[in-house]
Amino acid sequence: MKRVLLLLPTTGYRNNDFLAAAKKLGVEIVAAANYCHQLAPSWGLAPIMALHFDQPEQAADTVLREMNGIPDAVLAVDDSGVELAAVLSERLGLPGNRAEAVRRVRDKLAFRRLLKEREFECPGFHHLPSGEDPRKLLGELKFPVVVKARRLSASRGVIRADDPEALARAVSWVRAIQARADRDAETLGLVVEEFIPGREYALEGGLHQGKLTTLALFDKPDPLDGPYFEETLYVTPSRLPQALQDCIHQEVARACRAAKLVSGPVHAEVRVNDQGIWILEVAARSIGGLCGRALTHLLGMSLEEFILRQGVAEPVPLLPAAGEDAAAGVMMIPIPRRGIYRGLDGLAAAQSVPGVTGVAITVEPGQIIAPPPDGASYLGFIFSRAASPADAEAALRVAHGRLRFDIRRAHAAL
Ligand code: ADP
Repeated sequence: MKRVLLLLPTTGYRNNDFLAAAKKLGVEIVAAANYCHQLAPSWGLAPIMALHFDQPEQAADTVLREMNGIPDAVLAVDDSGVELAAVLSERLGLPGNRAEAVRRVRDKLAFRRLLKEREFECPGFHHLPSGEDPRKLLGELKFPVVVKARRLSASRGVIRADDPEALARAVSWVRAIQARADRDAETLGLVVEEFIPGREYALEGGLHQGKLTTLALFDKPDPLDGPYFEETLYVTPSRLPQALQDCIHQEVARACRAAKLVSGPVHAEVRVNDQGIWILEVAARSIGGLCGRALTHLLGMSLEEFILRQGVAEPVPLLPAAGEDAAAGVMMIPIPRRGIYRGLDGLAAAQSVPGVTGVAITVEPGQIIAPPPDGASYLGFIFSRAASPADAEAALRVAHGRLRFDIRRAHAAL
């Protein structure tokens, strides 16, 4: 029986999907998690259930000390664990991406430097160290700009600024967000870069021995012009001309080679405009939240099963998407405002929209929620299948229109 060391984040959306896939495949899972190191021992959990994913070298020492035998693979459920998974694979002599490569693509400043050096389309960018006055950059900036935390995801800590006053506000706000999220925020500083106009697309793929396979290219039909960048709709197949889709694949493949990513899942975000294809991000992980469920029909299995099979080197036949319902969509249900979630109405009505294949509400009653740039979660996910991408998109919009969320004001300090 194959054994996989799986890095499970406490707040992960997909832990259960990975565990179900492992059960189906007959793969033994050795669980490692990032439960609080003070609480986990009192719950009787082993030290590998209380790892600091954000301190990969130290966490890897703990795993190597505590684990019996060498697993066939080390996999991370989401972004928070990818660097630790790479450090462990390297130290255990398992195939996979080098830790240095994963670290570089997770750091928005290091990744921009790489893109510029390799002559990709790349917005002008600057590093703004902690404590430095953003007015110092004014002589070099062309507004609008985007202010970003270095290592956060799901558009947390990303704000557009159109003038010097908005830049000052955005910098203070993003600094505060990063300070709450990253223990080494002080040493990181921020990235300030030119805003790239255009439409956005997401490529979901997999690398095997350095070769990229595109599993799906998603259109993001809602404009993402800021000042905050909450994700909503993903629809596949893309409605872009095939030649342009091929160019996006080539450009992402070239970025993976430049970044020295060679295996495992890849999720890339690109913008397209008259000047060309701009790579916003290449991540050594699969698509976030529950969005991967939109690919089940295309893969003939869950995305988690696909990743596990690839991880333990089992052959994975790729079935071409065909038939009547070849188009699929997913909506990450946006959080309309900060507050305390109390409940919702209209679930059955949303589920009954033709083409809608499921509505998963992931927020819990009583939970404090906030949209980006502060928050990094969603109310839930709506899934659709249809004959065309336009129909898959329309079904999501109709279903969303039927949901009524009860969100109460939270105390300002929350
Ligand atoms: P994250 O890793 O949190 O998703 P990104 O750097 O990908 O952070 O930015 C999140 C979103 O913000 C992007 O999907 C895009 O919509 C927008 N964005 C980021 N950088 C730029 C930019 N330079 N120009 C235009 N939009 C941007």
